[in-house]
Amino acid sequence: MKALVKTKAEEGIWLQDVPEPEYGIDDVLIKVLKTGICGTDVHIYNWDAWSQKTVKPGTTIGHEFVGRIAAVGSNVHGHKVGELVSAEGHIICGHCRNCQAGRRHLCANTLGVGVNRNGAFAEYVAVPALNLWHCSEKVPEEIYAIYDPLGNAAHTALAFDLVGEDVLITGAGPIGIAAVPMAVKAGARYVVVTDVNDYRLGLAKKLGATAVVNVANQDLKSVMRDLGMQEGFDVGLEMSGNPAGFRKMLETMANGGKIAMLGIQPGDTGIDWNTVVFKGLTIRGIYGRMFGETWYKLTSMIQSGMDITPVITHRYSYKDFQEGFDVMRSGRSGKVVLDWSE
Ligand code: NAD
Ligand code: ZN
Repeated sequence: MKALVKTKAEEGIWLQDVPEPEYGIDDVLIKVLKTGICGTDVHIYNWDAWSQKTVKPGTTIGHEFVGRIAAVGSNVHGHKVGELVSAEGHIICGHCRNCQAGRRHLCANTLGVGVNRNGAFAEYVAVPALNLWHCSEKVPEEIYAIYDPLGNAAHTALAFDLVGEDVLITGAGPIGIAAVPMAVKAGARYVVVTDVNDYRLGLAKKLGATAVVNVANQDLKSVMRDLGMQEGFDVGLEMSGNPAGFRKMLETMANGGKIAMLGIQPGDTGIDWNTVVFKGLTIRGIYGRMFGETWYKLTSMIQSGMDITPVITHRYSYKDFQEGFDVMRSGRSGKVVLDWSE
């Protein structure tokens, strides 16, 4: 079968013929229909320091996908061939304390599909049946292809009560823009989005942001004054992974504000801790999404009218994967979806 493989320990990704994946008695084999390119895939493409210590050359990458079950292991019940599915890309151990407590997203021994084992940028992928998400035929397939990052956005946006609150989202990347309609749906009054990239801020506006601010040449505080905000943001969703973005958020939070932190900051990021203390801020780290529950809420929000489609800006055949990676790397995209169905 065809697959996108991190063949060599250098920049790039290569389309190759590889054997179909083997699947165990608790696994299912899935015929992949559509996949999303994630920032993680771009890190692996770029072969940055993190990928060099994490990914073994020869690995098929990709973890955002939708497909149809092609075969089920002998121990799998409740799923059948032909069923439309997506899957949680974090493979868990099932026996650590968090797994046993049902907090599976916090498993101490998580392995990533398309990172630590062969992934979904391929005609077929195998995953444990435990990881499956049954897809309704009423939601567009391409939306299920990006359920993983939409889940990151939802897990972050729903971390705190947003009813009547003013929300700041730092970073209008694919996940930041996806969080906009979620915050609106969850009852926020104002949703203000910052970035340094006007193309992406345009997408945030399209997805329903009250105001967008290019912090490279606009003053966030004057936008807050124009909106009539008195004290600062009640809830912050940090989705830039950028120290300047995070510091600006700390500066503009109201006393007692709450921050859900998804963005991955450089290890040596310094902040003014006294701002956290004197404002009495709560900062919660957000990792992945909750098994099942986040995708349940996401599905309900979509089924009750939330339009998330504008998050996808580019669609290609898997054969044109290079164009997909190029546009992701240019910063002039939201989500990029590859079609594997032909
Ligand atoms: P992305 O890199 O595409 O988007 C980040 C955006 O932040 C970019 O548009 C960039 O221009 C913007 N930015 C840069 N400087 C800024 C500043 N000073 N102020 C505001 N914005 C600024 O990333 P993404 O794929 O949308 O993911 C968002 C973040 O979440 C990344 O840091 C990613 O690594 C992280 N992430 C975390 C998890 C998790 O489980 N915790 C999962 C997925 C992604
Ligand atoms: Zn575990």
